[in-house]
Amino acid sequence: MTEFELITHYFQAHPNTRSDVILSIGDDAALLLPPANQLLAVTTDTLIEGVHFLPGTAPQTLGHKSLAVSLSDLAAMGAEPAWIVLSLSLPTIDESWLSAFCEGFFSLSNSYHLQLVGGNTTRGQLSISTHLTGFIPAGKALRRDGAKPGDFIYVTGCLGDAALALACLQGKAAIPAADLTIIKPRLETPTPRVAAGLALRDIATAAIDISDGLAADLGHILQQSNVGAALNLRDLPLSKTLQNLSQDRGFHLALSGGDDYELCFTVSPEKVSLLEGAFLGLDITYQKIGVIKQERGLKLEGVEGFTLKNEGHDHFLKNKTCL
Ligand code: ADP
Ligand code: MG
Repeated sequence: MTEFELITHYFQAHPNTRSDVILSIGDDAALLLPPANQLLAVTTDTLIEGVHFLPGTAPQTLGHKSLAVSLSDLAAMGAEPAWIVLSLSLPTIDESWLSAFCEGFFSLSNSYHLQLVGGNTTRGQLSISTHLTGFIPAGKALRRDGAKPGDFIYVTGCLGDAALALACLQGKAAIPAADLTIIKPRLETPTPRVAAGLALRDIATAAIDISDGLAADLGHILQQSNVGAALNLRDLPLSKTLQNLSQDRGFHLALSGGDDYELCFTVSPEKVSLLEGAFLGLDITYQKIGVIKQERGLKLEGVEGFTLKNEGHDHFLKNKTCL
C-alpha cells in the first residue's frame, strides 16, 4: 500500500456529512465555511509513543484518545466541535493497526458530528497530531481569566483514576485486577465533557480541562484571573477505587494526577440554580470542591496536616516524559 492508497482507503473514503465542508480530503487544502457571527475555537494536540502513551497501546484506544484530548480542549472553551485535521507519523503501513485506529477515531468523531477534512501522513516514530476547530458565539467562550472572589469551584466526574491506571500499567502501583479493569478506560478512552462545556456557556465564569492535574490546571485559572482559592479535600470526587487507597495517596492522585480530561469551572453564587438546571439532562456528575478567594495561592482545607508534594505534570520541568 502506498501513502496515497492509505489516505484514500482509510481517511478519504469516510463520507462527508457536513454542509459547511465545501471541499474535504484530496486537494492541497480543505475549504470550509465558517458560520456567520461565531468565533472559531482552534486547538491542537500531539500524542507521541513513549511520551504520551505506552508502546504497544491498542490502536483503537489511540484513535479514540487522540481525538478525545482535543475535544476536551474545545469542551473547556464551551465550543461546538466541527472540523478535524489529522497528522500521522507511522513507522510502517500496518493495515490492521490502521483499521483499529480508524475504528476508535471515527466512532468518536461520528458521535459528535465531526468531519475529518485533511491531514498529513509521514513515516517516522509513531505520533498522532489532531487539530480541531469548533464554533462559539462571540462573548460566550469559557476562558481561564474570568474567575471572581466568591465564585464556587466545581469539577465534573471524578479525579485521579487515569493516573492510577497508568501507575498500575507501569508496575508502580498495584490494585485488584477487577478495579484496574474499571479504571483503565479512564486512561485509554476518556470521555470529553463537550456537553458540559456547551451547557456552561452562560453559567461559568471560567473553565479549564484537567489534563495535568487539578492543582496545576486550577492554578492556571487562578493565575490568569488574578485570584486564589480554597479547596476542601473532603469534597474531591474520588472513585471507589481511589477511596480504597490510603487517604494521602487518593488526594495526591486527585490533585496532581494527569489525563483526567474532566472540566474544572467556576460559577458565581447567583448562578448555582442555573447550573443545577443545566446539568439535569446531562449524564455527567459534578461536584463543588471549593471557592475562589481574593488572596492569591491555593489553600487545601479539610484534612489536618496534608501537604501536596507534586503539583502536576510539566513536560520540561520534572520527568522528561509523562510515562
Ligand atoms: P500535500 O502534499 O499537497 O500537502 P498530501 O499529499 O500530503 O497533500 O495529502 C493529500 C490529501 O490527503 C490532502 O487533502 C490531505 O489533507 C489529505 N491527508 C493526508 N494525510 C491525511 C490523514 N492522515 N488524514 C486525513 N487526511 C489526510
Ligand atoms: Mg500540495
